[in-house]
Amino acid sequence: MGKGRKCCVPGCNSNYNNTENYASSFTFPKYATRKNQWVKSINRADFISNSTAVVCIKHFSSQFIIKEDRVVRYDGSELVVPRKIWKVTNDAYPSIFSNQPSYLSHEPSTSRKSPSERITALKLRDEQKFSRMVHE
Ligand SMILES: [Zn+2]
Repeated sequence: MGKGRKCCVPGCNSNYNNTENYASSFTFPKYATRKNQWVKSINRADFISNSTAVVCIKHFSSQFIIKEDRVVRYDGSELVVPRKIWKVTNDAYPSIFSNQPSYLSHEPSTSRKSPSERITALKLRDEQKFSRMVHE
């Protein structure tokens, strides 16, 4: 689950020494536009992202972090499945850089719904199937 991958943000020591500074980390988006947004955000002039580069959870506003999956059952009730592995939303980008000058950090607009309010627009007949899907 990516344990031990070192965060590529300058000044961040997540995952640099064993488990003490362990933090969940995320690989760069596949799509160029969004990848460039991440690269620009982390402000590292010499940085070339590759498939092993990761950014740790400390740089993401909480609205971008998905800790559970939700689906609406046919009867309208909600099924909440906590994720073993957190992930970031599709529009997430790093915006918190506590080890760098404060002008580099900013809070993304808060007009949007937070992930916890977000309900996956997905209706499934079979909870087992969903649960399996989430944990694979
Ligand atoms: Zn980091």
